[in-house]
Amino acid sequence: MIKELHKKLINKEITSVQLTQDYFNAIEKRDAEIGAYLTLTKELAMQQAEFVDAKISKGENIELLEGIPGAIKDMICVDGVRTTAGSKILDNYIAPYDATVIKKLKECGAVILGKTNQDEFAMGSSGENSAYGPTKNPVDPERVAGGSSSGSAAAVAGDEAVWSLGTDTGGSIRQPAAFCGIVGLKPTYGRVSRSGAISMGSSLDQIGPFAKTVEDAAIILSAISGEDSLDATSAKSSDKKYEDYLTGDIAGKIIGVPKEYVESLEGEIKNVFEKSLEKFKSLGAKIEEISLPHSQYALPVYYIIMTSEVSSNLAKFDGIKFGMRFDDSAESKSQLSSSENSNATSKKLLETYLDTRKIGFGAEVKRRIMLGTYALSAGYYDAYYLKAQKVRALIRKDFEDAFKKVDFIYSPTCPEVAFKFGEKSNDPLKMYLSDIYTITANLAGVPAISFPIGSVVEDGKALPVGGQLIGKWFDEEGILNMAHTFEINKQ
Ligand code: GLN
Repeated sequence: MIKELHKKLINKEITSVQLTQDYFNAIEKRDAEIGAYLTLTKELAMQQAEFVDAKISKGENIELLEGIPGAIKDMICVDGVRTTAGSKILDNYIAPYDATVIKKLKECGAVILGKTNQDEFAMGSSGENSAYGPTKNPVDPERVAGGSSSGSAAAVAGDEAVWSLGTDTGGSIRQPAAFCGIVGLKPTYGRVSRSGAISMGSSLDQIGPFAKTVEDAAIILSAISGEDSLDATSAKSSDKKYEDYLTGDIAGKIIGVPKEYVESLEGEIKNVFEKSLEKFKSLGAKIEEISLPHSQYALPVYYIIMTSEVSSNLAKFDGIKFGMRFDDSAESKSQLSSSENSNATSKKLLETYLDTRKIGFGAEVKRRIMLGTYALSAGYYDAYYLKAQKVRALIRKDFEDAFKKVDFIYSPTCPEVAFKFGEKSNDPLKMYLSDIYTITANLAGVPAISFPIGSVVEDGKALPVGGQLIGKWFDEEGILNMAHTFEINKQ
């Protein structure tokens, strides 16, 4: 899609201003229902589009992404633009600088349409934890778009953006991509700079693309990846054009299917998955069963490490340094109950912290801060955090062992298709289980892509199923080529 649009731009069949305006028209028409966007950056977008059109009319060359409109998860800072992370506590926060990925996209001439809705501080699997209302799945608006990058997935799936960026700590790019029927990629930990992305679990977070095609995801990854002095965990890597690695040839590649992932699969998803294995075989790949024996511990390990990192990362939102502050104004007071009010008239520092955090954070965020604070507390640190880190090392070792035998690891992205609103929101454990196949890639730091492999009919609607390919550390080109080859041979 990006390459076709690029051709149309250079052949002067369309202008970037027209294209960008078309997307704003689509947003105006559909987004009141879908709820993909929190903030539109029309002025910024139009300026960029005009700049690209001027270059084209002067006969200058433009890059692939120049003039192509996309959307950014509200977890990522764009200079001068409101950046809420889906939280009330950052309701009035204007980012004072560009995240490294934004700097890079601007250097490539990409057009930024706006900031997208998400679960608060990226905590959730359905988009229902946003302080700004849920995002609906464009495939079936009675269902969730997935999460936490709900708006970024819905914007692309609903034709309200060509591409978008999300963040993925435990599955937040791959799961919504699967639910919305598009492509989502979580790069290797360190492949993309995290500078300027609001941190959730710093040892797990990665920024990555959503797109309609694997090739488009590859083009976005080429734009945003690379070493960055502002992120000490970013890896030394030579600049790559990932789109150049999409050969369409996967003959002889060995795909490992983890028995622990698929033994509990049932029903239609199982059928779709098995058909996709046949397709890979017909394209020349070999399928082997493998074991990731420690994956049964992945969910508890994730919920100790992630919540511990959350509790320390979110300590800075205290009403002083960033965002909203509880004060003695009538508006602030009206948000506390009357008994709390009588205690809150004093402006003591501790009370400002406590009241700001009480009003500013939603229930899921508070739950995780409390869990993490508990896991890190003296006396429990060894039993929880330290132990979890040790098991994490074993999970990583499972991948090292598996990759001695196979080139890729493959499973469905999720054990289910997009569910209906309210189905899991009262049961956090049920919600956490949505990520059962995705979190291991974050714990091990390996790259993983979700791409559409078929659909399941429920209530007369064809609901998308995603397949997840996990690659060796820094083998993004490998998983992209596998998914691309599947995509172009789908019919
Ligand atoms: N859904 C997972 C969670 O709630 C993953 C979130 C994410 O990747 N940001 O933690």
